[in-house]
Amino acid sequence: MKSSPSSGLYIVATPIGNLGDLSDRAKSLFALADLVACEDKRVTGKLLNHLGIKRPMVAYHDHSDDAARDALIARAASGIVVLVSDAGTPLISDPGYKLVRAARAAGITIATLPGPSAAIAALTLAGLPTDRFVFAGFLPNKTKARRDVAAEFAALRATLVFYETGPRLAASLADLADVLGPREAAVAREITKMHEECVTGTLPALADRYVDAPPKGEIVIVIAPPITAVAADLDDAALDALLTDLLSDMPVAKAAREAARNHGVERKRAYDRAVALKGGQ
Ligand code: SAM
Repeated sequence: MKSSPSSGLYIVATPIGNLGDLSDRAKSLFALADLVACEDKRVTGKLLNHLGIKRPMVAYHDHSDDAARDALIARAASGIVVLVSDAGTPLISDPGYKLVRAARAAGITIATLPGPSAAIAALTLAGLPTDRFVFAGFLPNKTKARRDVAAEFAALRATLVFYETGPRLAASLADLADVLGPREAAVAREITKMHEECVTGTLPALADRYVDAPPKGEIVIVIAPPITAVAADLDDAALDALLTDLLSDMPVAKAAREAARNHGVERKRAYDRAVALKGGQ
């Protein structure tokens, strides 16, 4: 952004808990905004109040109609339109994508003022690999759909990041544990707020921890990639022990698949060994 911003659409990240995290650029831009498009005028009004700024606001969601988008784009052609969400970075599990797309198609100047996002903040707390990660937004409400999503990501060699709510946390962790196995994970809660915490453990251990004590506040789940480090060290005896355990409650093909998916064992090696064990060789 230049020192004196031109007309256009400005995507502005806001704090996820600590108002001190609002950037100086964001503060300056709010003061110049001709219009602030936000999810909830009461939430954004509080932020502007805190800054001692009063600007016109309009509610905007991705399900707002084309006319609402057109009006914002028309305003951004000759003035400064700021897009914010209730907290964090707009468009990240929040409204904005359709507006940015439409503004781009209309040739409107678009600039972003980056800042807090719970997904990135949680990754920095978890102590899990960050070289490759997948942000997968909110998990579905229902077990079957949740398990399907977990299965979709199971083979990815990447850290997984999900948004979650307190009441659903234990059930989600249990489903994730069933599908992904005993991977390392972290539950980052109330980041940048007074009760911030980041609890780490395996998925089954975390599921147990929260089953009778659903936590309050906002939550991000971070899950380590499949356990390849263990696989590298998995000699024949260790593989046999793992497969014997798996074969006690599942058929050969499934046991081989689990060993491959959750322990990084080469699929054919796991399958051949499982067949041999099942045949009593
Ligand atoms: N756009 C936002 C961002 O960039 O982080 C996310 C919006 S999404 C509707 C809200 C979800 O983000 C919450 O349900 C929670 O999963 C996560 N979240 C937001 N603030 C958080 C915080 N302070 N600590 C942990 N998770 C948070």
